Amino acid sequence: MDILLEKAKNKHELTREELTAMLQPEYPLADLLSAADEVRKKYVGDEIHLRGLIEFSNFCKNNCLYCGLRRDNKQIQRYRIDIRTILELASHAKNMGLKTVVLQSGEDIWFSTEKMVEIIRGIKDMGLALTLSIGEKSREEYEAYRKAGADRFLIRIETTDKKLYEDNDPGMSWEKRRQCMLDLKELGFELGSGCLVGLPGQTLESLADDILFFKETSCDMIGIGPFIPHPMTPLKNAEGGKLEPALRVMALTRLLLPDINIPATTAMETLAPNGQTLALQGGANVIMPNVTLTAYRQHYQLYPGKTTTGYTPDESLKKVIAKIESLGRKVGSGAGQSPKWLKEQNTENK
Ligand code: SAM
Ligand code: SF4
Repeated sequence: MDILLEKAKNKHELTREELTAMLQPEYPLADLLSAADEVRKKYVGDEIHLRGLIEFSNFCKNNCLYCGLRRDNKQIQRYRIDIRTILELASHAKNMGLKTVVLQSGEDIWFSTEKMVEIIRGIKDMGLALTLSIGEKSREEYEAYRKAGADRFLIRIETTDKKLYEDNDPGMSWEKRRQCMLDLKELGFELGSGCLVGLPGQTLESLADDILFFKETSCDMIGIGPFIPHPMTPLKNAEGGKLEPALRVMALTRLLLPDINIPATTAMETLAPNGQTLALQGGANVIMPNVTLTAYRQHYQLYPGKTTTGYTPDESLKKVIAKIESLGRKVGSGAGQSPKWLKEQNTENK
């Protein structure tokens, strides 16, 4: 076996130069995916954890150039799901057998800390694990969510290239985003982050930096999404990301962070009908079936062609379970914390 792959598989360490070499299109993708699959099996096992995704508001005060929810997109119909309905959707997710829900939205200031705390408490009372993906907040707000019982938080760094980040996320600061991640980790959240692959001007070196950054910031979950241009955004004519480079970044992330959770992302499935299957066979161990009501889903268009758009929550879940079974893997039986985070908790409590 190639020495770099051997080193990655056994030591879980690579330099920026080595990562960059393995991100080249010439480096055999099949070998990378199969090594990542072996490491996944050894460290996190065969279970695939399901998270019920509730996209509860598509209002956003930010203006990220790549995202269909950006505030200057006047062509989408905005919605907010009321608190009672959010709780009903969570309860339905629980009745369908899901153990975790993920609440995701644009940065919608209507959902004040008090409202979020009410939602968090309601969901925690159902005995579900809860992940939030609602963007940048103050440390005090994150602390209030944690005290109310929220377990995990997803906030992608998007790219570690500061200039690329600030060019694509006007008015936002890369340092602030990083600080949010550090605050969340310190407050005891299981920290999820990730990056977009294929942003205009992004280099392989910068993707290598992204992977090293995930390790340095001690992330517990990493979602890698190919960037898919949205027709109502300034990046509508961009070339967009491709599946293969995104799979490469994902597989290398598994090799360097062997005991974290890695989702097979919806954006991967949008680019190819077998995108998520390839991801699950190349290091991924999580899927997030969409449990938002069908009527709202069509308006949560981060990018066009999202594969889950037309399905009811029950249909989305059935499709995902069939996929898992067809791969000879099994649906996760518990809340699905990452082994890395569990180990850290045990060490802290000793
Ligand atoms: N607003 C919160 C935030 O930005 O952290 C959470 C929701 S945001 C819609 C979730 C993720 O969608 C972002 O972190 C970004 O990586 C991804 N996303 C946005 N536009 C995308 C696009 N055009 N293609 C692929 N992923 C996209
Ligand atoms: Fe808003 Fe998040 Fe989209 Fe940026 S990526 S515009 S913060 S929803």
